[in-house]
Amino acid sequence: MSTQSKKVAIVTGGGSGIGLAIAQKFAAEGITTIIVGRDQEKLNNALSEIGENCHAMTCDLANLAGIPAFVEEILKLFGQVDILVNNAGINMKKDFTEVTDEDFLQVINTNVCAVFTLSREVVKHMQSRKTGSIINISSMAAQYGLPRVIAYSASKSAIDGMTRAMASELSPMGIRVNAIAPGFIETAMTAKAFNSDPARRDKALGRTPMGYMGKPEDIGDAAVFLASDSAKYITGVVLPVDGGNSIGF
Ligand code: NDP
Repeated sequence: MSTQSKKVAIVTGGGSGIGLAIAQKFAAEGITTIIVGRDQEKLNNALSEIGENCHAMTCDLANLAGIPAFVEEILKLFGQVDILVNNAGINMKKDFTEVTDEDFLQVINTNVCAVFTLSREVVKHMQSRKTGSIINISSMAAQYGLPRVIAYSASKSAIDGMTRAMASELSPMGIRVNAIAPGFIETAMTAKAFNSDPARRDKALGRTPMGYMGKPEDIGDAAVFLASDSAKYITGVVLPVDGGNSIGF
């Protein structure tokens, strides 16, 4: 039996793409995995794909005021939370001058504020047990100047900064905080961008030393490692899982 098998994990955005792959890997390790999203049907489909050890709960994380009660409900149902994966995120592609204040705030609210509020509520619980692992899903958009994703880039840079600040403050409580920065991964998010613009796909792959797109499972494997005791001396890192993209090829 895996050493992770008694653990409980929350994976936000676990109904699709990268979150679904992370949830699949966790559940296969015997971790009780709670996937969170807004769309019940999407979550139900994910549940039937994952099978054992997985549960679904709906929550619109952009409604920050609802998060404390949501975490209370999880604790009432599952008793503990050992792992939190802040994966839910939205992107918005628009020319710089077309981005409204509302657009900008919407992305920051989901990608940054919800990560903070959910982490704070979970940490209140984790600190009493003196153990926990938080994994934030960043992006290489935090490091590179990508066009037409101003709010998304700002949000992912904020994630990297928050990861380091949380890691330093929460270490004495036995809580590790790391981030994963995926490169080009085959999900609905990238299909939308690349299917309509194959030249963009070729350019992206041209910048990737390994020459092909990653799979959501590649991020799942990294999350399993970071959540495990094998990573017990690792905190505050932003781990690129990107086929070498971050080398600056
Ligand atoms: P998806 O769109 O497939 O997944 C995003 C998930 O977030 C959905 O399942 C969605 O569920 C959930 N979500 C969005 N808003 C909310 C909300 N307000 N409350 C609760 N859940 C929400 O995208 P990916 O799997 O591609 O992306 C996952 C993460 O990986 C994101 O943070 C993204 O920025 C990051 N990433 C992705 C890359 C890629 O190449 N695909 C590259 C770099 C980073 P629902 O609709 O049910 O609410």
